[in-house]
Amino acid sequence: MDFFPLFLDLKGQSVLLVGGMDSARGKLELLHKAGAKILWLSPKLSPELEPLALLPGVTHSLDPFEPDHLLGMKLVLVCADDLELAARISRLAQDRGLPVNVVDRPQWCSFIMPSIIDRSPLVMAVSSSGNCPRLSRLVRAKLETLFPQSYSRLALMMGAFRESSKDQFLDPEARRRFWDRIFASPIIEMFLSGQEQMAQKALEQELVTQQSAPPRYGQVALVGAGPGDPDLLTLRALRLIQTADVVVYDRLVSPVVLEYARREAQRIYVGKKSSEHTVPQDQINQTLINLAKEGKQVVRLKGGDPFIFGRGGEEIELLVEAGIDFLVVPGVTAASGCGTYAGIPLTHRDFAQSVCFITGHLREDGTLEMQWQHLVQKNQTLVFYMGLASLPQISDQLIAHGMDPKTPVALIERGTTYNQRVYTSTLDRSPELAQKEAITPPTLIIIGAVVGLREKLKWFDPAQFDEPARPPFLQP
Ligand code: SAH
Repeated sequence: MDFFPLFLDLKGQSVLLVGGMDSARGKLELLHKAGAKILWLSPKLSPELEPLALLPGVTHSLDPFEPDHLLGMKLVLVCADDLELAARISRLAQDRGLPVNVVDRPQWCSFIMPSIIDRSPLVMAVSSSGNCPRLSRLVRAKLETLFPQSYSRLALMMGAFRESSKDQFLDPEARRRFWDRIFASPIIEMFLSGQEQMAQKALEQELVTQQSAPPRYGQVALVGAGPGDPDLLTLRALRLIQTADVVVYDRLVSPVVLEYARREAQRIYVGKKSSEHTVPQDQINQTLINLAKEGKQVVRLKGGDPFIFGRGGEEIELLVEAGIDFLVVPGVTAASGCGTYAGIPLTHRDFAQSVCFITGHLREDGTLEMQWQHLVQKNQTLVFYMGLASLPQISDQLIAHGMDPKTPVALIERGTTYNQRVYTSTLDRSPELAQKEAITPPTLIIIGAVVGLREKLKWFDPAQFDEPARPPFLQP
């Protein structure tokens, strides 16, 4: 992080603003809103800026800048076109330990000003750390549409309830859970859609009843985290991750997805350890049950979709038996994510009318149990999960059961991430290719004529990202 974000209390504090460039208007209005006492030095003043000089709390002066003007100041802003003067003020201010900002001259700034969305008392600030102000403006425009003006009144109402909720819930953890429940309830929508009084009454009611209600069991959400690209999360998955007390995850979950969890949320890794031992399934189940019984909101994050080769069914069966509340959120499964990001549609009117998702996981004795003759069908795409180790057998068996050895095959490693690698070959040559290229899991195997469409339809090129490649999956 290049800059430390913070909000300054400038009420009644002295601020020096130098210069009469157009950009002075925005700065002055903002400082005025924040209640600062402004000394504005500007020898020239355009007719448009003149009225600003009359604002209460603003002292305008035509005097040229003197170092003494810095005395007693808490902040210095420069909007002057005289660059020599701007550089000098910046130096003098920094010598005195004063935070200084010179418009459009990052090299002379000790702080930068973000783009803001003002829903006071709720204020959102966005910055690209000077890399691309245009991008922060774009993000700001998006946030403007996501958070209508009514958020300002919502924040005020919540503020009014803050004290009474403190009296009701002495335990901060219980208080946080209360507010989480309120924010997940229809009360918020009610307020935002204009039924403010009704929402206020409902909130008062909740404060009373929640207080006397017996402690409830927590809830476990079995959430699909998608195949890697965090943008492929569902909105519900995102909301649940953001409010969870505990996130239990395994190795296919992208670290970027985990970053959406609250800083205080507990993160429990149950995937393969460096010793290559996975946490046994019954231990995972017990952990989920124990956490829920402690009243925690638990998110059990799984790569892709929890109900596709994710053992999601087994985990919730035990929750049902233990009487724990649960819900399941589907995710984009690897077949869909990897196929799409490799430019391979899994079905196509001319090439494939059906698609099979198959596990290539080997049995303990190293064999694969499969109805091979059912897999060798015309116009069908085969998608193998966990099939890298068994690829030689998959290839041999499909050919032995009549599949054309020249059927196209795609091997997609770390699909949908910056580290995605896609290899295409034919059924007979693919095991050799996997070995030659040292392809590693997670890799998805797609077999069928649709693979040929990639040449024309590929669109995702991880090489185009400047971003330093980061490990897409956790490897603790
Ligand atoms: N529930 C998951 C699948 C878990 S099985 C889902 O719905 O996607 C694990 C296998 O999924 C891996 O061995 C690999 O074959 C496949 N897989 C998952 N994510 C992948 C990715 N990003 N790239 C390639 N293969 C992936």
